Amino acid sequence: MTFGKVKGQARAAKILSGLLESDRIPNALLFTGMDGIGKTLMAVEFARALLCQDRSPAGACGFCSDCLAVDRRNHPDLALVNAQYQALLEEKEPEKQKILHIDTICHVRRDMGMPSMLGRWKIAVIENAHRMNASAANALLKNLEEPIPRSLWVLVTSGREQLPRTIPSRCFAVPFAPLADETVRAILEDQGVDPERAEAVAGLGEGSASRALELAAGEYPKALRAGPLAAFQAADNLPREGYLARSQVESALFALSQDLRLKHLQGALSFAQVERPLRELVRLRQALRSNADAKIVLTLAGLAAESASAPL
Ligand SMILES: [Zn+2]
Repeated sequence: MTFGKVKGQARAAKILSGLLESDRIPNALLFTGMDGIGKTLMAVEFARALLCQDRSPAGACGFCSDCLAVDRRNHPDLALVNAQYQALLEEKEPEKQKILHIDTICHVRRDMGMPSMLGRWKIAVIENAHRMNASAANALLKNLEEPIPRSLWVLVTSGREQLPRTIPSRCFAVPFAPLADETVRAILEDQGVDPERAEAVAGLGEGSASRALELAAGEYPKALRAGPLAAFQAADNLPREGYLARSQVESALFALSQDLRLKHLQGALSFAQVERPLRELVRLRQALRSNADAKIVLTLAGLAAESASAPL
């Protein structure tokens, strides 16, 4: 039973077990849902089940040489395509890989065209599939239209609406739900977060374990609140691509407001101190959604958050 390893996604696990049981695996799956809820983990679990020498409908055995190779992330028939993967191909830094390029998709395609050494599936898991640019998406689409037998693309995305519509229409969709607070708390504790802190921030993640983990670590808001200059610097370092900058600022706004709420709940800041900055952050979130400049919004957000700790 390995799909159960992915906490709080019983429905997705059931759909995937059903596919394994029917033995009618589509050539492309689309895992959708917010960030930080286990989509990539589930994609790897599904790949592991397909590659396993002794699988059951519930998933991989976890002990055969294929299972162990997937665990080590060095199975020759599984490609985990993300910023690190592209950085290795292009010999550049992973932090700079904000967009998935056509060359990366073509490289994966060539690799999938080579028969599996063991005569089994060839699988590519594309993380943040919405980060493909138009030419990469077109190249992928051609592959979805003319699939190689026993090859599987698993597209993982929190931005389905940013994909060209033709792509989801060629995929079997598996929706992932936001996590229950209790599940987030358990995941945080598994990751070594102190139980009291895990309890405090679990609900503030709004269903995302990774958001809650960021809040537990308190890194992003702290960086922004190191002074007005820090907010300007963060704004200067935003990606040039508009939609990437917006999603980064959207998470920053979220993190800043949840950090203020947490400080208030813990008694470090009074209601009077957090009320105005929180309202300002809501206003900025609306402004961002109606196309305000991401850089200006982030700068103002940093200043608003900082004003909370200023003496009244
Ligand atoms: Zn196995």
